[in-house]
Amino acid sequence: MNDCIFCKIIAGDIPSYKVYEDDDFLAILDITQTTKGHTLLIPKKHTTNILDTDKETVEKAYGIVSDLAKKLVDKLDAQGVNIIQNNNIAAGQTVFHFHIHIIPRYEDKNNDSIDIKFHQTQQDFQQLLDLINK
Ligand code: AMP
Ligand code: ZN
Repeated sequence: MNDCIFCKIIAGDIPSYKVYEDDDFLAILDITQTTKGHTLLIPKKHTTNILDTDKETVEKAYGIVSDLAKKLVDKLDAQGVNIIQNNNIAAGQTVFHFHIHIIPRYEDKNNDSIDIKFHQTQQDFQQLLDLINK
């Protein structure tokens, strides 16, 4: 936790571009700006990711994400928004302090070069049934 970059940002030891703050949460511009306005919502209390975070914090976090997503789309004249949240290395997490990405999206591809796609695979209905049973 001492080496956690987001804890250092919350403590004010590392500068950030603050979008929103209350007693329990901080939202900052993501340093990479994948698209214009790419924002991270971060609970101030350190947990690794959604898998070890209490439900109340997760519920509050998504409530704030809902408000911020609408405001970012409105103020930045975006045409859409992706909400992304990575948990553990297998899912692409690189900073191990729970956070939610709010990524405004633009129809103008000069402003928006990211590609988030779910590639369709062959349907295996037995596999779907097995999953439901699990
Ligand atoms: P994830 O891959 O979901 O763990 O995302 C971590 C995100 O943190 C990446 O999008 C980084 O660009 C972002 N990030 C890392 N360091 C900083 C920083 N100092 N300020 C703002 N964003 C950061
Ligand atoms: Zn932390």
